[in-house]
Amino acid sequence: MKKRPTIGIYGFTGCAGCQLALLDCEDELLDIFSALDIKVFYEAMSNNDDNALVDIALVEGSINTNKQTQELKEIREKAKVLVAFGSCSNHGCVQAMALGDGEWEQRFKQVYGDMKFTVAIPREAQPIHKFVKVDAYIPGCPPAKPQMLRALTQLMHGNQPTYTNSPVCLECMFRENECLLYNGKLCLGPLTIGGCTAPCPSHNIPCIGCWGIIDEANHISELKLLKEKGFKAEDIIRRFRIFGGSDIVEKIQKLLEVI
Ligand code: SF4
Ligand code: SF4
Ligand code: SF4
Repeated sequence: MKKRPTIGIYGFTGCAGCQLALLDCEDELLDIFSALDIKVFYEAMSNNDDNALVDIALVEGSINTNKQTQELKEIREKAKVLVAFGSCSNHGCVQAMALGDGEWEQRFKQVYGDMKFTVAIPREAQPIHKFVKVDAYIPGCPPAKPQMLRALTQLMHGNQPTYTNSPVCLECMFRENECLLYNGKLCLGPLTIGGCTAPCPSHNIPCIGCWGIIDEANHISELKLLKEKGFKAEDIIRRFRIFGGSDIVEKIQKLLEVI
């Protein structure tokens, strides 16, 4: 019988919703559990083997302490393929909202004062690629079931995961929604990677880019369109900041400067 690929599913700082989304694949769970030899999955198992070498490491969450940094590096050493699983690990998410603004220490002191930390020293939230080499990304907050299952299947066959490379707008159009931009609402759908099936605009709520920025978009043209519609650069950047982390914000800032 062919040896099953080994997998570890690890969680750092986040809401643990990506792991929960995997557990939520109820109809497919038996297939997943029989196709993979799961060594670590704290959200689902009690007999975890932290020392196991794994073929695939799915890493959820951002890195917020020195202890997590060390643990992430250890996972990297044990894993053949390390995958950033969801928005927190991909680009930082809400906890990295102000990443890179230079005021983290001041904000931290306002909340915690001079408290001494012994078990782990907190640090500004960062996506995992700031500390280790990442081999593949699964986008989403949380990732959607079809994409997650496709990615897992590709990974267990030794392939690179593929994902939707069209913006949220396409899925929004498929749902025959009236575009919120025409109603004066700042929606980030044109610049956000699709796959979520556009739940927010379908409920009249503008997309805030929680899946991250799409690679293959005409970013300049879309940003020009937003500016033509009267949205200010600082409002566009503020909205991208909600889930963006500094990499995405820097990219948008640079593009807005040349428009
Ligand atoms: S990416 Fe979203 S769902 Fe996943 S852990 Fe972070 S906040 Fe939760
Ligand atoms: S509402 Fe948002 S996601 Fe939908 S088409 Fe308009 S800009 Fe795109
Ligand atoms: S904020 Fe945008 S990317 Fe996130 S779920 Fe809503 S529509 Fe999708």
